[in-house]
Amino acid sequence: MSVPTDGDEVPVLEVRGLVKHYSSGSRLTRDRRVVRAVDGIDLTIGRGEIVGLVGESGSGKSTVGKCVTRLTTPTAGTIRLLGRDITHLSRARMRPLRSQVHVVFQDPFSSLNPRMTVEQIVSEPLKQHGVGSRRDRESTVGEMLEKTGLARELRSRYPHELSGGQRQRVALARALVLRPALVVADEPVSALDVSVQASILNVILDLQADLGFSCLFITHELSVVEFISDRIAVMYLGKIMEETTRERLFREPQHPYTQALLSAAPSADPAAVRAQERIILSGDIPSPAAELPGCPFHTRCPVAVERCRTERPALTAKADPEHRTACHLVTADGAPDLQALARA
Ligand code: SF4
Repeated sequence: MSVPTDGDEVPVLEVRGLVKHYSSGSRLTRDRRVVRAVDGIDLTIGRGEIVGLVGESGSGKSTVGKCVTRLTTPTAGTIRLLGRDITHLSRARMRPLRSQVHVVFQDPFSSLNPRMTVEQIVSEPLKQHGVGSRRDRESTVGEMLEKTGLARELRSRYPHELSGGQRQRVALARALVLRPALVVADEPVSALDVSVQASILNVILDLQADLGFSCLFITHELSVVEFISDRIAVMYLGKIMEETTRERLFREPQHPYTQALLSAAPSADPAAVRAQERIILSGDIPSPAAELPGCPFHTRCPVAVERCRTERPALTAKADPEHRTACHLVTADGAPDLQALARA
Protein backbone atom coordinates (compact mmCIF):
# COMPACT_ATOMS: atom_id res chain seq x y z
CA MET A 1 0.00 0.00 0.00
CA SER A 2 1.37 3.41 -0.88
CA VAL A 3 1.92 5.93 1.87
CA PRO A 4 2.61 9.63 1.51
CA THR A 5 6.35 10.18 1.31
CA ASP A 6 8.26 12.98 -0.42
CA GLY A 7 9.83 11.40 -3.47
CA ASP A 8 12.32 8.80 -2.36
CA GLU A 9 12.08 9.82 1.28
CA VAL A 10 11.97 6.85 3.62
CA PRO A 11 8.84 6.31 5.70
CA VAL A 12 9.00 7.42 9.32
CA LEU A 13 8.07 3.92 10.47
CA GLU A 14 8.34 0.66 8.56
CA VAL A 15 7.39 -2.58 10.28
CA ARG A 16 7.78 -5.93 8.54
CA GLY A 17 6.68 -9.34 9.84
CA LEU A 18 6.47 -8.09 13.45
CA VAL A 19 5.98 -10.88 15.97
CA LYS A 20 5.79 -10.62 19.74
CA HIS A 21 5.20 -13.81 21.70
CA TYR A 22 5.19 -14.14 25.47
CA SER A 23 5.63 -17.35 27.41
CA SER A 24 3.27 -17.96 30.30
CA GLY A 25 2.63 -20.76 32.78
CA SER A 26 5.03 -22.82 34.86
CA ARG A 27 8.02 -24.86 33.73
CA LEU A 28 7.64 -27.04 36.80
CA THR A 29 4.18 -28.23 35.85
CA ARG A 30 5.15 -28.20 32.15
CA ASP A 31 2.19 -25.95 31.63
CA ARG A 32 4.06 -23.56 29.33
CA ARG A 33 1.95 -21.61 26.88
CA VAL A 34 2.89 -19.17 24.16
CA VAL A 35 0.79 -16.03 24.00
CA ARG A 36 0.87 -14.69 20.44
CA ALA A 37 0.25 -11.02 21.23
CA VAL A 38 1.40 -9.87 17.78
CA ASP A 39 1.61 -12.48 15.07
CA GLY A 40 3.26 -11.14 11.93
CA ILE A 41 2.15 -7.66 10.97
CA ASP A 42 3.36 -5.12 8.41
CA LEU A 43 2.76 -1.42 8.96
CA THR A 44 4.11 1.70 7.27
CA ILE A 45 3.65 5.29 8.39
CA GLY A 46 4.65 8.11 6.06
CA ARG A 47 5.76 11.59 7.04
CA GLY A 48 3.00 13.61 8.67
CA GLU A 49 0.59 10.69 8.50
CA ILE A 50 -1.75 9.59 11.32
CA VAL A 51 -2.41 5.86 11.22
CA GLY A 52 -5.12 4.52 13.51
CA LEU A 53 -4.69 1.02 14.93
CA VAL A 54 -8.06 -0.18 16.16
CA GLY A 55 -9.26 -3.41 17.74
CA GLU A 56 -10.87 -4.96 20.77
CA SER A 57 -9.06 -5.39 24.05
CA GLY A 58 -6.59 -8.29 23.64
CA SER A 59 -6.09 -7.75 19.90
CA GLY A 60 -2.39 -6.91 20.40
CA LYS A 61 -2.52 -3.24 19.38
CA SER A 62 -0.79 -1.90 22.52
CA THR A 63 1.95 -4.52 22.13
CA VAL A 64 2.60 -3.16 18.63
CA GLY A 65 3.02 0.29 20.23
CA LYS A 66 5.48 -1.09 22.80
CA CYS A 67 7.51 -2.84 20.08
CA VAL A 68 7.82 0.14 17.74
CA THR A 69 8.94 2.38 20.59
CA ARG A 70 11.30 -0.39 21.74
CA LEU A 71 9.80 -0.49 25.21
CA THR A 72 9.89 -4.21 24.49
CA THR A 73 11.98 -6.28 22.07
CA PRO A 74 10.10 -8.11 19.31
CA THR A 75 10.34 -11.87 18.94
CA ALA A 76 10.80 -11.56 15.17
CA GLY A 77 10.46 -9.10 12.31
CA THR A 78 12.04 -5.74 11.64
CA ILE A 79 11.27 -2.18 12.76
CA ARG A 80 12.78 0.73 10.88
CA LEU A 81 12.56 4.23 12.30
CA LEU A 82 13.47 6.88 9.70
CA GLY A 83 15.13 4.12 7.69
CA ARG A 84 17.26 2.85 10.57
CA ASP A 85 16.79 -0.71 11.79
CA ILE A 86 16.05 -0.37 15.52
CA THR A 87 14.72 -3.91 16.05
CA HIS A 88 17.54 -5.11 18.26
CA LEU A 89 19.27 -1.91 19.35
CA SER A 90 20.51 -2.00 22.93
CA ARG A 91 19.11 0.50 25.41
CA ALA A 92 22.31 2.58 25.13
CA ARG A 93 22.25 2.65 21.31
CA MET A 94 18.54 3.42 21.33
CA ARG A 95 18.99 6.40 23.68
CA PRO A 96 19.95 9.04 21.05
CA LEU A 97 16.99 7.90 18.91
CA ARG A 98 14.58 8.41 21.80
CA SER A 99 14.28 12.06 20.74
CA GLN A 100 12.63 10.84 17.52
CA VAL A 101 9.90 8.68 19.03
CA HIS A 102 7.67 9.44 22.01
CA VAL A 103 4.70 7.78 23.64
CA VAL A 104 1.53 9.26 25.09
CA PHE A 105 -0.20 6.82 27.42
CA GLN A 106 -3.84 6.35 28.34
CA ASP A 107 -3.63 7.48 31.93
CA PRO A 108 -1.82 10.81 32.23
CA PHE A 109 -1.97 10.65 36.03
CA SER A 110 0.18 7.54 36.29
CA SER A 111 2.49 8.59 33.43
CA LEU A 112 3.38 11.95 35.01
CA ASN A 113 5.76 12.08 37.97
CA PRO A 114 3.63 13.38 40.90
CA ARG A 115 6.66 15.01 42.52
CA MET A 116 7.51 17.16 39.52
CA THR A 117 5.92 20.44 38.48
CA VAL A 118 4.54 20.94 34.97
CA GLU A 119 7.68 22.94 34.13
CA GLN A 120 9.97 20.12 35.28
CA ILE A 121 7.92 17.44 33.50
CA VAL A 122 7.89 19.19 30.13
CA SER A 123 11.55 20.27 30.28
CA GLU A 124 12.81 16.85 31.38
CA PRO A 125 13.34 15.43 27.84
CA LEU A 126 15.25 18.61 26.89
CA LYS A 127 17.54 18.15 29.89
CA GLN A 128 18.00 14.43 29.22
CA HIS A 129 19.11 15.15 25.65
CA GLY A 130 21.20 18.21 26.63
CA VAL A 131 19.11 20.61 24.54
CA GLY A 132 19.49 24.35 25.19
CA SER A 133 20.44 26.45 28.18
CA ARG A 134 18.16 26.74 31.20
CA ARG A 135 16.69 29.94 29.79
CA ASP A 136 16.14 28.30 26.38
CA ARG A 137 14.38 25.39 28.04
CA GLU A 138 12.11 27.71 30.02
CA SER A 139 11.14 29.49 26.85
CA THR A 140 10.53 26.18 24.98
CA VAL A 141 8.36 24.89 27.83
CA GLY A 142 6.28 28.10 27.72
CA GLU A 143 5.88 27.68 23.97
CA MET A 144 4.78 24.04 24.31
CA LEU A 145 2.26 24.91 27.03
CA GLU A 146 0.78 27.52 24.72
CA LYS A 147 0.62 25.10 21.79
CA THR A 148 -1.21 22.55 23.90
CA GLY A 149 -3.66 25.16 25.20
CA LEU A 150 -2.32 25.37 28.76
CA ALA A 151 -1.93 28.68 30.56
CA ARG A 152 1.70 29.52 31.35
CA GLU A 153 0.69 30.07 34.99
CA LEU A 154 0.20 26.29 35.29
CA ARG A 155 3.94 25.64 34.98
CA SER A 156 4.41 25.61 38.76
CA ARG A 157 1.50 23.21 39.42
CA TYR A 158 1.80 19.50 40.24
CA PRO A 159 -0.18 16.81 38.35
CA HIS A 160 -2.68 16.34 41.21
CA GLU A 161 -3.60 20.03 40.93
CA LEU A 162 -4.69 19.60 37.29
CA SER A 163 -7.81 18.17 35.63
CA GLY A 164 -7.59 14.98 33.53
CA GLY A 165 -7.65 16.99 30.29
CA GLN A 166 -4.92 19.35 31.54
CA ARG A 167 -2.77 16.39 32.55
CA GLN A 168 -3.09 14.87 29.08
CA ARG A 169 -2.12 18.24 27.55
CA VAL A 170 0.99 18.21 29.76
CA ALA A 171 1.76 14.65 28.56
CA LEU A 172 1.42 15.87 24.96
CA ALA A 173 3.68 18.88 25.62
CA ARG A 174 6.32 16.56 27.08
CA ALA A 175 6.01 14.07 24.20
CA LEU A 176 6.43 16.81 21.58
CA VAL A 177 8.96 19.11 23.22
CA LEU A 178 11.86 17.46 21.32
CA ARG A 179 9.91 17.61 18.02
CA PRO A 180 9.92 13.82 17.47
CA ALA A 181 9.29 12.34 14.04
CA LEU A 182 6.87 9.77 15.48
CA VAL A 183 4.36 9.88 18.34
CA VAL A 184 2.74 6.66 19.52
CA ALA A 185 -0.52 7.58 21.26
CA ASP A 186 -1.88 4.58 23.15
CA GLU A 187 -5.58 5.16 24.01
CA PRO A 188 -4.75 8.81 24.88
CA VAL A 189 -8.38 9.89 25.36
CA SER A 190 -10.00 6.70 26.68
CA ALA A 191 -9.67 7.71 30.34
CA LEU A 192 -11.20 11.16 29.73
CA ASP A 193 -14.80 12.40 29.80
CA VAL A 194 -16.43 12.50 26.37
CA SER A 195 -16.58 16.32 26.43
CA VAL A 196 -12.83 16.50 27.13
CA GLN A 197 -11.98 13.80 24.56
CA ALA A 198 -13.00 16.02 21.64
CA SER A 199 -10.87 18.93 22.81
CA ILE A 200 -7.79 16.70 23.25
CA LEU A 201 -8.28 15.15 19.79
CA ASN A 202 -8.49 18.64 18.31
CA VAL A 203 -5.30 19.63 20.14
CA ILE A 204 -3.53 16.58 18.66
CA LEU A 205 -4.72 17.47 15.14
CA ASP A 206 -3.67 21.12 15.56
CA LEU A 207 -0.25 20.11 16.91
CA GLN A 208 0.21 17.62 14.09
CA ALA A 209 -0.60 20.30 11.49
CA ASP A 210 1.80 22.71 13.21
CA LEU A 211 4.72 20.38 13.95
CA GLY A 212 4.26 17.77 11.20
CA PHE A 213 4.95 14.63 13.24
CA SER A 214 3.68 11.20 12.23
CA CYS A 215 1.44 9.31 14.63
CA LEU A 216 0.44 5.76 15.42
CA PHE A 217 -2.88 6.26 17.19
CA ILE A 218 -4.00 3.18 19.14
CA THR A 219 -7.60 2.94 20.27
CA HIS A 220 -10.55 0.61 20.68
CA GLU A 221 -13.02 3.37 19.75
CA LEU A 222 -14.07 3.58 16.12
CA SER A 223 -15.47 7.10 16.50
CA VAL A 224 -12.07 8.28 17.73
CA VAL A 225 -10.13 6.56 14.98
CA GLU A 226 -12.55 7.96 12.38
CA PHE A 227 -12.03 11.48 13.69
CA ILE A 228 -8.26 11.46 13.83
CA SER A 229 -6.78 9.05 11.27
CA ASP A 230 -5.63 9.34 7.68
CA ARG A 231 -5.36 5.55 7.37
CA ILE A 232 -6.70 2.78 9.61
CA ALA A 233 -5.54 -0.76 10.34
CA VAL A 234 -8.00 -3.10 12.07
CA MET A 235 -6.39 -5.68 14.37
CA TYR A 236 -7.77 -8.96 15.60
CA LEU A 237 -5.89 -11.59 17.58
CA GLY A 238 -2.43 -10.22 16.80
CA LYS A 239 -3.01 -9.74 13.07
CA ILE A 240 -4.18 -6.97 10.78
CA MET A 241 -7.51 -7.87 9.19
CA GLU A 242 -8.00 -4.79 7.03
CA GLU A 243 -6.04 -1.68 6.19
CA THR A 244 -7.07 1.29 4.10
CA THR A 245 -7.82 5.00 4.15
CA ARG A 246 -10.31 6.30 6.71
CA GLU A 247 -12.83 7.16 3.98
CA ARG A 248 -12.71 3.72 2.37
CA LEU A 249 -12.92 1.86 5.66
CA PHE A 250 -16.07 3.66 6.76
CA ARG A 251 -17.64 3.75 3.30
CA GLU A 252 -16.83 0.23 2.09
CA PRO A 253 -15.67 -2.05 4.90
CA GLN A 254 -14.68 -5.39 3.35
CA HIS A 255 -13.66 -7.68 6.18
CA PRO A 256 -16.54 -9.34 8.10
CA TYR A 257 -14.91 -8.31 11.41
CA THR A 258 -14.72 -4.65 10.36
CA GLN A 259 -18.32 -4.77 9.17
CA ALA A 260 -19.40 -6.15 12.56
CA LEU A 261 -17.41 -3.48 14.45
CA LEU A 262 -18.91 -0.68 12.35
CA SER A 263 -22.45 -2.02 12.76
CA ALA A 264 -22.06 -1.75 16.55
CA ALA A 265 -20.48 1.70 16.55
CA PRO A 266 -22.65 4.56 17.85
CA SER A 267 -23.53 7.20 15.29
CA ALA A 268 -24.72 10.79 15.75
CA ASP A 269 -26.85 10.40 12.59
CA PRO A 270 -30.27 8.85 13.48
CA ALA A 271 -30.93 7.98 9.79
CA ALA A 272 -27.68 6.02 9.64
CA VAL A 273 -28.58 4.18 12.85
CA ARG A 274 -32.03 3.24 11.45
CA ALA A 275 -30.57 2.05 8.14
CA GLN A 276 -28.02 -0.16 9.83
CA GLU A 277 -28.55 -3.67 11.13
CA ARG A 278 -26.40 -4.57 14.11
CA ILE A 279 -24.24 -7.61 13.31
CA ILE A 280 -23.96 -9.67 16.48
CA LEU A 281 -20.84 -11.77 16.73
CA SER A 282 -21.10 -14.95 18.74
CA GLY A 283 -18.53 -15.74 21.42
CA ASP A 284 -15.55 -13.77 22.67
CA ILE A 285 -12.22 -13.08 21.08
CA PRO A 286 -10.27 -16.37 21.55
CA SER A 287 -7.25 -16.45 23.84
CA PRO A 288 -4.05 -15.42 22.04
CA ALA A 289 -2.54 -18.52 23.67
CA ALA A 290 -4.86 -20.82 21.67
CA GLU A 291 -3.36 -22.32 18.52
CA LEU A 292 -5.91 -21.49 15.85
CA PRO A 293 -5.33 -22.79 12.33
CA GLY A 294 -6.84 -20.96 9.38
CA CYS A 295 -8.37 -17.51 9.62
CA PRO A 296 -8.05 -16.08 13.16
CA PHE A 297 -11.63 -14.83 12.91
CA HIS A 298 -13.23 -18.12 11.79
CA THR A 299 -14.61 -19.03 15.25
CA ARG A 300 -16.88 -15.93 15.19
CA CYS A 301 -17.31 -15.18 11.51
CA PRO A 302 -20.96 -15.43 10.34
CA VAL A 303 -19.90 -16.28 6.76
CA ALA A 304 -17.00 -18.68 7.42
CA VAL A 305 -16.58 -21.54 4.95
CA GLU A 306 -14.61 -24.78 5.30
CA ARG A 307 -11.44 -23.27 3.83
CA CYS A 308 -11.44 -20.62 6.59
CA ARG A 309 -10.77 -23.29 9.24
CA THR A 310 -7.56 -24.54 7.65
CA GLU A 311 -6.05 -21.86 5.45
CA ARG A 312 -4.89 -18.49 6.74
CA PRO A 313 -5.88 -15.63 4.40
CA ALA A 314 -3.12 -13.22 3.45
CA LEU A 315 -3.57 -9.45 3.83
CA THR A 316 -3.74 -8.40 0.18
CA ALA A 317 -5.29 -5.80 -2.08
CA LYS A 318 -7.98 -7.37 -4.25
CA ALA A 319 -9.06 -4.65 -6.70
CA ASP A 320 -8.09 -1.36 -5.05
CA PRO A 321 -4.35 -1.10 -4.23
CA GLU A 322 -5.21 1.24 -1.34
CA HIS A 323 -7.42 -1.35 0.35
CA ARG A 324 -5.95 -4.56 1.80
CA THR A 325 -8.02 -7.26 3.46
CA ALA A 326 -7.27 -10.69 4.97
CA CYS A 327 -10.35 -12.69 3.98
CA HIS A 328 -10.84 -15.57 1.52
CA LEU A 329 -14.25 -14.25 0.50
CA VAL A 330 -13.08 -10.78 -0.50
CA THR A 331 -12.24 -10.82 -4.19
CA ALA A 332 -11.87 -8.32 -7.01
CA ASP A 333 -15.62 -8.82 -7.57
CA GLY A 334 -16.62 -7.74 -4.06
CA ALA A 335 -16.86 -8.60 -0.36
CA PRO A 336 -19.44 -10.46 1.75
CA ASP A 337 -22.29 -8.14 2.73
CA LEU A 338 -23.08 -8.90 6.37
CA GLN A 339 -25.66 -6.10 6.50
CA ALA A 340 -27.69 -7.89 3.79
CA LEU A 341 -27.28 -11.16 5.69
CA ALA A 342 -28.49 -9.56 8.93
CA ARG A 343 -31.55 -8.10 7.15
CA ALA A 344 -32.49 -11.42 5.50
FE1 SF4 B 1 -14.67 -15.02 7.71
FE2 SF4 B 1 -13.35 -16.83 6.28
FE3 SF4 B 1 -13.10 -14.27 5.70
FE4 SF4 B 1 -12.01 -15.25 7.90
S1 SF4 B 1 -11.46 -15.78 5.81
S2 SF4 B 1 -13.16 -13.38 7.73
S3 SF4 B 1 -13.53 -16.75 8.52
S4 SF4 B 1 -14.97 -15.50 5.55
